[in-house]
Amino acid sequence: MTNAVLIESLSKSFGKVQALKSIDLVIDEGQYVVLLGPSGSGKTTLLSILGGFLGPTSGRICLRGQDITGLPPAKRPTATVFQDYALFPHMSVRDNVAFGLRMRRMAKRQVDDAVDRMLELVGLGNFGDRKINQMSGGQRQRIALARALVIEPVVLLLDEPLGALDLHLRRRMQEEIHRLQRKIGSIFIHVTHDQEEAMSLADKVVVMRQGNVEDCGSPRRVYLHPATSFTATFMGSSNLLNGIITDIDDGQALVETALGHIKCATQQSVHKGTAAQVSLRPEHLRLMNGSAEPALVKGNVSDLVFHGTHMRLSVTPEGLDDMEITVTASADLDVEIGAFVELVADHTKATLLCS
Ligand code: ATP
Repeated sequence: MTNAVLIESLSKSFGKVQALKSIDLVIDEGQYVVLLGPSGSGKTTLLSILGGFLGPTSGRICLRGQDITGLPPAKRPTATVFQDYALFPHMSVRDNVAFGLRMRRMAKRQVDDAVDRMLELVGLGNFGDRKINQMSGGQRQRIALARALVIEPVVLLLDEPLGALDLHLRRRMQEEIHRLQRKIGSIFIHVTHDQEEAMSLADKVVVMRQGNVEDCGSPRRVYLHPATSFTATFMGSSNLLNGIITDIDDGQALVETALGHIKCATQQSVHKGTAAQVSLRPEHLRLMNGSAEPALVKGNVSDLVFHGTHMRLSVTPEGLDDMEITVTASADLDVEIGAFVELVADHTKATLLCS
């Protein structure tokens, strides 16, 4: 794979607001990249600069070796799917999809062929003559995708493309977009707040916070071994335990926490005696159920929430009234608030955080 998109020291200020603070990012050919982060973290600003709708304050963007920083949107090999789709309501589905090709003065025959192919690809082969206002939300979403993809962009930019859909349709469209991207092989860069959407779609998740890239990597790596406490809590939930590193041995750090010693794999250079934070996901703890392993937590259930596929318990450890540890348990577990439980941890999943 080659580096198709290079983003170097990209910054953007709006007056005193620094929306992007020297972003560096490398994207490979064929990658599905998801920009994930809370409101105001700079996701849309980055996407708008990539699409050429905004200029950066400094830094540059190279696409397949060409500096495109100063190019207007129409001159870039990019296309954008906007959150509200920005379809032309008075035009037919076919005319909407054909729009970009006609603007490029492509011959009618070629336009017709390309539009037919694209409508087939998004499952709307029989809907070409309908008006936009006769189409459902999910269908409009597919038309917006077809309209953007028909010009064969190197990079497709998607700004919260599923934000307007209900949860069920949203999950279905995620699968469709994923399949489409795999089939076409273009780079997709997709903005969302939804961590589940990010994990299910991305080859690479870029977690943004206050104009910076907080973490970047495969969803699996970012979820299982988050780089920072922000990522650990933004991508799913996590029990964060403060402690001191008391020993380092063979790439593992032993951290003394209020719950006792926890052994964590560490890829960073860490030092004995320094403060550290350990992240333990709720699913990396379990109820003891007669296990011979020593319990990490003994305490009482302070809350429980049924999630259908599982239950989530909050446990207050004995003698640590200010602390609450979250653990995932089987959906059919017979337990009540106040019950005494013992929890064991899968120490191999504990992650040492650098901030
Ligand atoms: P959301 O998820 O809410 O869409 P976001 O992560 O996409 O948020 P941006 O829209 O990129 O965030 O905004 C980043 C920061 O830049 C925010 O503080 C925002 O208020 C500010 N900002 C964005 N556009 C402008 C603008 N045109 N003028 C002034 N400030 C702006």
